[in-house]
Amino acid sequence: MTEESERPEDHGVELQPNEPLSLSQTCMSCGNEGRLSLLLVPDIFFPDVVITCFSCTECGYRDRQMDRVESAVEGVKITCRFKNSQDLKRYVVISAGTEVKIESGEHGVTYTQKDDAVMVVESLIRYVLETLISRGTLPEDPLTEEETRGLDEYQKIALFLQESLTDLDLVLVLEDKKGDTRVLPVGESLEKGTKSLPLEYFTDECVEIVRIEKEDRGENGESGEQIW
Ligand SMILES: [Zn+2]
Repeated sequence: MTEESERPEDHGVELQPNEPLSLSQTCMSCGNEGRLSLLLVPDIFFPDVVITCFSCTECGYRDRQMDRVESAVEGVKITCRFKNSQDLKRYVVISAGTEVKIESGEHGVTYTQKDDAVMVVESLIRYVLETLISRGTLPEDPLTEEETRGLDEYQKIALFLQESLTDLDLVLVLEDKKGDTRVLPVGESLEKGTKSLPLEYFTDECVEIVRIEKEDRGENGESGEQIW
């Protein structure tokens, strides 16, 4: 999908967001002069993307690629202790590969996020529930006993997640080795994005955020769930 070979800095240019830049470059196919176009697409939550297109009018060779521009310098581990239903309405910005751990009492579940996403806490928990029980739709109504009976080992965890949404004695841990994951304060909108704000902004009486060692953003690893 992406290669590390052609970063914008290799061309000795400074890209401005959303301002396309065109350079001449030797065609790697025929050796004549072709055109290289670069575009920096900014993102307010996740790494910016640089789109690189090369085309040669002499031989018709074309090449196109997308690269992420890493911004986070360290990974993050976010621990949330939620006791209020307002907390479920908080926005979560979650990177692909983030390990999500939901605990309540002695029960818990871990889940690995597959894609970069922005949602509210409640949707995240419901999504984990949905994924665990492989239902095609979000469960709008509480599961009936009959519905949970067919879930075998997932029955307990489905009921646990459902109860944790009602009773709100919930610990949510998000471990992101890429560093872009954030849980927003209660009532904060997504307008400002998250990338330009300091970690302190995301800390309050329910949410603790600490830096952890960063891991380079590669292809997504295997995603899996674990229940205890
Ligand atoms: Zn060419």
